[in-house]
Amino acid sequence: MDLMEYQGKNLFRRHVIPTTPQGEIATTPDEAERLAEGFGAPVMVKAQVLTGGRGKAGGVKYCKDAVEARANAEAILGLDIKGHQVEKVLVEPASDIAEEYYLSILHDRVSKGYKVIASVEGGVEIEEVNRTAPEKVVKRDLDPTRGMDDATARAIVEQAQFPADVTDKVVAFLSKLYDGFVSSDATLFEVNPLIKTTDGRIVALDSKVSIDNNARFRHENIFSEAETGGGHPLEIEAKRKGLQYVKLDGNIGIMGNGAGLVMSTLDVVAEVGGRPANFLDAGGGASAESMAEGIAFVLSDPDVHVMLVNIFGGITRCDDVAHGVLGAIDMLGGLSEKLVVRLDGTNAEEGQRILAEADIANLVTAGKMVEGAEKAVALADQASQSAAR
Ligand code: GDP
Ligand code: MG
Repeated sequence: MDLMEYQGKNLFRRHVIPTTPQGEIATTPDEAERLAEGFGAPVMVKAQVLTGGRGKAGGVKYCKDAVEARANAEAILGLDIKGHQVEKVLVEPASDIAEEYYLSILHDRVSKGYKVIASVEGGVEIEEVNRTAPEKVVKRDLDPTRGMDDATARAIVEQAQFPADVTDKVVAFLSKLYDGFVSSDATLFEVNPLIKTTDGRIVALDSKVSIDNNARFRHENIFSEAETGGGHPLEIEAKRKGLQYVKLDGNIGIMGNGAGLVMSTLDVVAEVGGRPANFLDAGGGASAESMAEGIAFVLSDPDVHVMLVNIFGGITRCDDVAHGVLGAIDMLGGLSEKLVVRLDGTNAEEGQRILAEADIANLVTAGKMVEGAEKAVALADQASQSAAR
């Protein structure tokens, strides 16, 4: 099973192998622009396809701002790179590169062991370097039963003539890379380029990873992530809609305005004995429209038996939110599940009055967070008891 660059780099990060700052996947220019805005700094937009040479094919672009990220994503999405159609791009904070090296570990059928390849000539295809300057490519067979000790790693790095100022860091990197390679049952870990950043760090900028199919039973998560493109289908859908959403494993749908409030809501629900089904931040200036979209989205999750909307009105006015909630219910053609709405802060009383007067079946109001959470948990318990009957 081959992994795309971003999946390979996520695997590196899980094995504490120094890697470029974590990026995110976009499937539309809009998303790429939004992600770039979020990162703030210059970003790279990189085609995610299972082939190398993306840079040469125009699939890797430096973008100084979000507008450029959008334009580059537009150009790269849909591109054909060696027969691979680009359906997603990685947007990640750009790295400042001082030097580009090469490092890989692979299964070698000839020696029936591992092979480590190292070179200070990175960023270009290693086959090319091997042809034009074979003395710059160090290949070392490794006995899997003996593994890689520090002395072996150091010998390889020194033989490849890495600059003295990075030797220790590359040795440490290679050791980590080896540990990750073995514990993932990989057949290939290629880092091209391995970079020295302008501030002197050694990090993986690119990854080419293959995992042994026979080891699937040990790495179900890696395989299923690679197959589905990562993330729960609802998270993928949410991303497409621009919603700040994380799927969780409970039965109480959650939405609030502001990430901090939503996180507190998750805590409070758990504290009073409930299990949140998700995280959804409707944003600080949550409009009626975004309320409606968020409520409809959370209720579309079949795991959700009860939803708790927790709003603290600051700039957002609770009477506006109340209208948004009613609009959402209208859009849904009524409520098939219980909806608890807690309104507090600016115009809270007015908001609660609007909801009460609408007199809608399955709609419950609350004034305080704990009260809202307790009502939601009680209703969720009722729902699962009646489902069990
Ligand atoms: P590949 O062409 O498919 O191997 O894609 P890479 O991820 O290796 O990127 C190709 C080249 O783009 C690298 O060798 C770098 O020169 C350049 N590049 C990629 N990411 C960055 C980055 O974050 N900053 C800078 N300055 N250049 C980058
Ligand atoms: Mg590369």
